[in-house]
Amino acid sequence: MRASLVEKIDTNPIVVEDVDIENPRSGEIRVQVTHCGVCHSDLHFIHGELPTPFPVILGHEAAGFVEALGPGVEDFRVGDKVIISLQGQCGRCYFCVRGENHLCVMGNGVSSGVLPDGGTRLSRGGETVYRGVGLGAFAEQVIVPVSAAVTVPDDTPLDLACLIGCGVQTGVGAALNVAKVAAGDTVIVIGLGGVGISAVQGARIAGAARIVGVDPVESRRERSRAFGVTDVIDPNSDDFAALAIDLTDGIGIDHAIDTAARPSSITGSINAVRRGGTITVVGVPGFEDRIDIPVIGWALAEKKYTGSFMGSSNARREFPRLLALWRAGQLDLESMVTARKSLADIPAAFDDLRTGDGLRTVIEIGS
Ligand SMILES: [Zn+2]
Ligand SMILES: [Zn+2]
Repeated sequence: MRASLVEKIDTNPIVVEDVDIENPRSGEIRVQVTHCGVCHSDLHFIHGELPTPFPVILGHEAAGFVEALGPGVEDFRVGDKVIISLQGQCGRCYFCVRGENHLCVMGNGVSSGVLPDGGTRLSRGGETVYRGVGLGAFAEQVIVPVSAAVTVPDDTPLDLACLIGCGVQTGVGAALNVAKVAAGDTVIVIGLGGVGISAVQGARIAGAARIVGVDPVESRRERSRAFGVTDVIDPNSDDFAALAIDLTDGIGIDHAIDTAARPSSITGSINAVRRGGTITVVGVPGFEDRIDIPVIGWALAEKKYTGSFMGSSNARREFPRLLALWRAGQLDLESMVTARKSLADIPAAFDDLRTGDGLRTVIEIGS
């Protein structure tokens, strides 16, 4: 099959035609990928800021059609439209039985690049090819555990729905499931890329009264207003925490959602939040990043510092909910797609990510 392959660390992906993909095994399906969003995490893996084996096929924000069923698979039919999650859920591990399916042990595949049995179902010239970010969807086909695919209605536009698989689930989920933004709350979102704008939308859906957007790129700040941001701050020219406190008459913001997750932004998020407020760190930092936190503020100010992975949501419940919000006109997916490119143009899409140009590029796999 045709796929976008990264042969070694710090190199751009190249399009190859000769990746071999196996038939799905028991408990698996093979999906014909139609669309896959380009997410910042893909870049982290290319540059070794997050671990992955090479050669690897990246791409983890995907949708498509069920193309083949493994033996005994009954929950899907060939031709079903699906949104893919980058990890399955086993339903049996400590985390799954607690209802924390997003923390399932199957998530180990995100950095190992292999399925739970150690295989990848992918090879090229006899050499193993790995599943980037646990999936590998910059390719015509991908094999996934049945628990990682969610069927959607036949009239679902997959070029938009694919965004739900990573960025939208992650950002909206951080606002609704973790910060639990309530009507009338104030929210500050650090970083206004695809995940940040999704967090803005989550806060807007929850009824936030004021949403402060922080991003060094002016075009991103301006674009964010259409998604619900009420006030924008350039972190390079202003102390965003001090400004945010001013905006709330000295009280501080109820919720900070940090999609940049840099040590400086996390420190600013902590400072911007009121006593008793929440700081939700969503972005993926470098492996070596550390922060220096004044511990005394924890007890005296009762601030709640938490992380969120994949929106802390059960994809099988969250994907239909997000799609329903889109159908109801409450979640804007159309405006999030700022470019459409082919597999061969993925390096250009990565360049756009590096410069902060646009929100989401969707790769049209067949083009
Ligand atoms: Zn992602
Ligand atoms: Zn599990």
